[in-house]
Amino acid sequence: MDETFYYHNEMANARGTMKFIIVTGGVLSGLGKGITASSIGRLLKGRGLKVTAVKIDPYLNCDAGTMNPYQHGEVYVLDDGGEVDLDLGNYERFLDIGLTSDHNITTGKVYKTVIEKERRGDYLGMTVQIIPHITNEIKERIKKVGEASGADIVLVELGGTVGDIESMPFLEAVRQLYRESGGEENCLFVHTTLVPIMGSVGEQKTKPTQHSVKELRAIGIIPHVIVARGVKMLDYDIKRKISLFCDVPLAAVVSAPDAESIYQVPDILDQQGLTDYILRKMKLDLPRSNMIKWNAFVKNLLNPTGAVEIAVVGKYTGLKDSYMSHIEAFHHASAEAQVKVNLRWLEGEDLETKNPGKFLKGVDGILIPGGFGDRGIQGKINAIRYARENSIPLLGVCLGFQLLVAEYSRNVMKWKGADSTEFNPKTRYPVIDILPEQAGVTDMGGTMRLGTHDIKLIPGIVRTLYGGKAKIQERHRHRYEVNPKYIDKLDSSGLKFTGRSKDGVRMEVVELANHPFFVATQFHPEFKSRPENPSRVHLGLVEAAKAYHSKKK
Ligand code: GLN
Repeated sequence: MDETFYYHNEMANARGTMKFIIVTGGVLSGLGKGITASSIGRLLKGRGLKVTAVKIDPYLNCDAGTMNPYQHGEVYVLDDGGEVDLDLGNYERFLDIGLTSDHNITTGKVYKTVIEKERRGDYLGMTVQIIPHITNEIKERIKKVGEASGADIVLVELGGTVGDIESMPFLEAVRQLYRESGGEENCLFVHTTLVPIMGSVGEQKTKPTQHSVKELRAIGIIPHVIVARGVKMLDYDIKRKISLFCDVPLAAVVSAPDAESIYQVPDILDQQGLTDYILRKMKLDLPRSNMIKWNAFVKNLLNPTGAVEIAVVGKYTGLKDSYMSHIEAFHHASAEAQVKVNLRWLEGEDLETKNPGKFLKGVDGILIPGGFGDRGIQGKINAIRYARENSIPLLGVCLGFQLLVAEYSRNVMKWKGADSTEFNPKTRYPVIDILPEQAGVTDMGGTMRLGTHDIKLIPGIVRTLYGGKAKIQERHRHRYEVNPKYIDKLDSSGLKFTGRSKDGVRMEVVELANHPFFVATQFHPEFKSRPENPSRVHLGLVEAAKAYHSKKK
């Protein structure tokens, strides 16, 4: 018999007590599976368990780095520079952990490895097949990530919907994982489905749930818990019906109704006894939860004392998921500043008029987020100028940082046509230019300046926001930078570079003297924002917006 059939049973024996919770989705995508999984993780963490997460994306891309935010939402960046699915952001935020690119498994990654092994001759002449070679590779990756993180619980979220052709090898792999790990004590299946409401009587319909569970069972997976998404809590009769038809105990049918905030979901699930149920099933006897700080955050978030309006001038505003980490960073800052943050979404292109102020009228702050390509650039520059001239708090991030430098160069330094060479390679004043190591790079995947780098701060607004720290670490994703040729002139004219890379070569933070809050960062502070520890600069913008708002009155 083929050796690979034995191999994984050995791994399972060596693994010890690591347990798995596998979250699948039925009926349709976009149900909030990631939030369900993250919430379960947060609850288990509250009971003292060490939890980590793996997101499986059944698409063929090796990672999300080459994906259009318009189709797929934001590309989330990890400490190690991994460009991953935005769901990893939810796990980092809910669990307050740092993940690596190994925590995002895609079909592309799995097949690439298996094909490379085949080419090397690692399979010793065997026929290489989906079962066991692809499925073994999947299981191995899940286990390796779990082992490396030393977690008690590995949450595995399987992207897509049960029944999709491309999910099949992954479902088969987790089915095997269940068997090999010794059953439900060590491996639990949570299935998320939709319970729609039909007709004028508002009846909750269970048929889609029944069908997707049937589909799962056909592959050999019997769900232990069903989380039903819907507008409202499930009626008792509907719960009973799902329990009966899908063969799960009543206590394991849980409602996940629409909530005002995603951060309420852990509590909604916990109130229905889900944490206790999971712990009982997995034979874990643990004390009551400690969610004090989390609950305080949620309470602050839902009970603001005032409101500010912040404009986001972007390029992908039609799909809000493109800016998910910014939206969440504003939620975190909002709770801390105890003020509601309303976002006004503006397309850069719309502001390419003589009177951009028309669109920005009444806002208390402006964010210019990151982006690529030249659509809407002039509109963003117009917004930056408007903020500078009218003393409106402004935060620029990455592309926003670069455009702030370009705007200042054009309109204050009077360097006519100053630009980034990304948009105008022939400009007389290339104030933003390609990073030297990036010139000549043609591959698009994983080639930017990525991930966490050290930043040195000198005294200024941003250093104060970071509690006076002289050294911070933040995440990056860019190909262009401030052209070193112009730094001294800009700095001595009042546009202060108060943050630089460790070697002093890359500009990381810029702020303007004589303006209440005109700040930009080459790094992306939104990726490390956490409910209990918000991005310092988003908080700075919100506080400045609050001050601006109260002065206006
Ligand atoms: N396009 C710019 C660059 O590559 C900005 C990137 C970004 O905003 N993430 O440098």
